[in-house]
Amino acid sequence: PEPPPTTAVPQAGAGTLTLLHRIGTTDPTDLDDYRANGGYTALRRAFALGPAAVIREVTDSGLLGRGGAAFPTGRKWQATASQPDHPHYLVCNADESEPGTFKDRVLMEGDPYALVEAMTIAGYATGAHRGYLYLRGEYPRALHRMEHAVAQTRARGLLGDDILGQGYAFDIEIRRGAGAYICGEETALFNSIEGYRGEPRSKPPFPVEKGLFGKPTVENNVETLVNVLPILTMGAPAYAAIGTERSTGPKLFCVSGSVARPGVYELPFGATLGELLALAGVRDNLRAVLLGGAAGGFVRPDELDVPLTFEGTREAGTTLGSGVVIAFDDTVPLPRLLLRIAEFFRDESCGQCVPCRVGTVRQEEALHRIVDRTGADAATDITLLREVGRAMRDASICGLGQTAWNAVESAIDRLGAYE
Ligand code: NAD
Ligand code: SF4
Repeated sequence: PEPPPTTAVPQAGAGTLTLLHRIGTTDPTDLDDYRANGGYTALRRAFALGPAAVIREVTDSGLLGRGGAAFPTGRKWQATASQPDHPHYLVCNADESEPGTFKDRVLMEGDPYALVEAMTIAGYATGAHRGYLYLRGEYPRALHRMEHAVAQTRARGLLGDDILGQGYAFDIEIRRGAGAYICGEETALFNSIEGYRGEPRSKPPFPVEKGLFGKPTVENNVETLVNVLPILTMGAPAYAAIGTERSTGPKLFCVSGSVARPGVYELPFGATLGELLALAGVRDNLRAVLLGGAAGGFVRPDELDVPLTFEGTREAGTTLGSGVVIAFDDTVPLPRLLLRIAEFFRDESCGQCVPCRVGTVRQEEALHRIVDRTGADAATDITLLREVGRAMRDASICGLGQTAWNAVESAIDRLGAYE
């Protein structure tokens, strides 16, 4: 039996949506329903265009990666497609583990064939014949839906040796994560698939050159891939007209915390944080909003006019990340919240490099002393936190250690968390 649904999608099925438009209106277990609602139009257009022109469309659309890092997708695809070494692999990163992120879950549970179709297009464009879907272990419903979608599309010739009679062979293998946050880091994810410990590799070389099994690999987030469908159906110029010049297209935002209607919202890039929170029903006693998750940063209630774009949040000194928006009202004890974030990073550090392995422990210890009032004084521990934070940011191998101090730093500097 399927696990019960737990994720609210307040906008499900609303008429103006691009990424969520089938959610709640089509049957996610019925391929015919998917096809009757626009499914497989994009793959047909991809076959008509050919791989090089598909990459051109994706490049011209301005699509930036939706996993959090906003790398240009077209550039990544082109870099993989042009590698002389073979085979090429496609990996879909569905290990979304950033606290407060649940958009990929909604896509996989509510529109699973869209991901199968998008992976097929990405494989076709980049010269891959095998795609891995690395799915977060804590998502049993998404697993169930994706397994069903892969089996059904395979049975109907939409995966396999000769897709739609076009002579292109592609298949998808699903691998489950086992609860480690670090396995969402792309190279740790490759190690996990290969059967090794989930520890990040040093970059460069980037996966486009040496990725899974040491071969050229394009690795994309679920939401990034699903965006390729509207790019191909509406065309790059129409897609690029959505959003802003530097952050094009629609974006999913995961809104949680002190709001009346938590859930996944779709808005064009450029809407303000205040507009999004109004949709979700923000409370009057708002104290702070965490953008980008545990690796992100806080904004104050007087900063809600920040535009929700990659460039706008960067200019405002924070980050959009994967679209996490957690609202905290003034009943939330900030020091305890920061301690919880520090515990999370200490727990999830893979321990491979010293700055992160030791730094995350020292950070948690200092925050404990402040909360429990067992240190000399808070100012001394804040000085130590800054030194440790700088070392983690500058010297850690991967993004986990590099960002483990972000939220604490922004809470100190923007919110005066310990004043
Ligand atoms: P990154 O900037 O190192 O890389 C982003 C992507 O671009 C990677 O795929 C990388 O291989 C590629 N890339 C970068 N430079 C390249 C080059 N010169 N040539 C070819 N490819 C290149 O970032 P990252 O460490 O992969 O990801 C960090 C982000 O992950 C953070 O912004 C964070 O918000 C996000 N994150 C998301 C989740 C989630 O659940 N969605 C969880 C943790 C972290
Ligand atoms: Fe592991 Fe942390 Fe180093 Fe990343 S930064 S490799 S998670 S110890």
